[in-house]
Parts: sequence; C-alpha cells; structure tokens
Amino acid sequence: MDLELALIHARHLSEVAMWICIRCKAEVTPDDSLPVIDDFGVCFICPQCGRRNRLKNIGENAEIVLMQIDPPE
Ligand SMILES: [Zn+2]
Repeated sequence: MDLELALIHARHLSEVAMWICIRCKAEVTPDDSLPVIDDFGVCFICPQCGRRNRLKNIGENAEIVLMQIDPPE
C-alpha cells in the first residue's frame, strides 16, 4: 500500500499514535499535526516549536503505525 495514500485514509491513526517533540517535548498527536511526507521521508512538524520530527512506519500489512526515529535532543 502506498504510504502517502494510507496516511490520508488512516482515520485510526490518532488512536494509536502520540509523539513527543524532540526539541520542546510537546505531546503531539496526528490531530495536532498531520504527518507529512517530504523528500527525506515521513515526519510531523511540531505545532509548538516548528521542529521537524522524523517518523517511520512500523505497522505491518495495511496497518500504519508511525514511530519516532530520533531520541529527544
Ligand atoms: Zn516542539
């Protein structure tokens, strides 16, 4: 499944994903900041400080589970 398409249709995403901004430690859900795909991969932009936080999909099959890659700074 195409990840970008899957993200758009992943309504369950907010129930399974919560991230901590690596710079300001804000708790961010997909409701706060939808994941985006750019040239470097999947990420979300922190709504509080604007930091780009890298994500990777660890879901299996058609499931989308986006986990943070980087530890807090
Ligand atoms: Zn932040």
